[in-house]
Amino acid sequence: MADNSFNQEFEELRKAARPCFQCGICASSCPVFRVTPQMNPRISVDSIITDGEIPSEGTEWLCAYCLMCEERCPMGVSLADILMGIKNISSKEGKAPADFIEAAEALLARGCLSPQSNRSDKKRSELGLPDLPQPDPEQVKVIFKATGAYDVLETNRASVKEEAE
Ligand code: SF4
Ligand code: SF4
Repeated sequence: MADNSFNQEFEELRKAARPCFQCGICASSCPVFRVTPQMNPRISVDSIITDGEIPSEGTEWLCAYCLMCEERCPMGVSLADILMGIKNISSKEGKAPADFIEAAEALLARGCLSPQSNRSDKKRSELGLPDLPQPDPEQVKVIFKATGAYDVLETNRASVKEEAE
């Protein structure tokens, strides 16, 4: 853990995970686990409680936040939020996966992740729908600065640079 704020965030995750008794219902309910068994919410929760640390594999980034695990957990463990908390701490420590850093860079550069296609523009026009507003990277920059996402991105850029050297 890098500093006290991380320790505090981690302790909150640990407290939320504590009621887990490792029944595995969350994993058997998870649509991502069905196709990618290395992404196992039960194991993520166990790492926090047993190992006392943020899992290093990064599989939590595959969570689709569908909340199926939370619906079915007999102990009411807020799994999706715990996985989100793991991702938040990892990214503040500069450990976000490369794909997500690239996505954040694309969002900053273009103002959107996936540009509108000509086909969908045409379909909207045929349906009499108005044109979508053009994405504005400047607005994304303002949001990144206001939410602290810009600092998180800088931390991850520095980690990528360090690894490359
Ligand atoms: S369903 Fe709930 S109690 Fe069961 S393993 Fe998952 S988090 Fe733990
Ligand atoms: S919220 Fe995430 S971990 Fe839970 S079932 Fe959905 S994809 Fe799986």
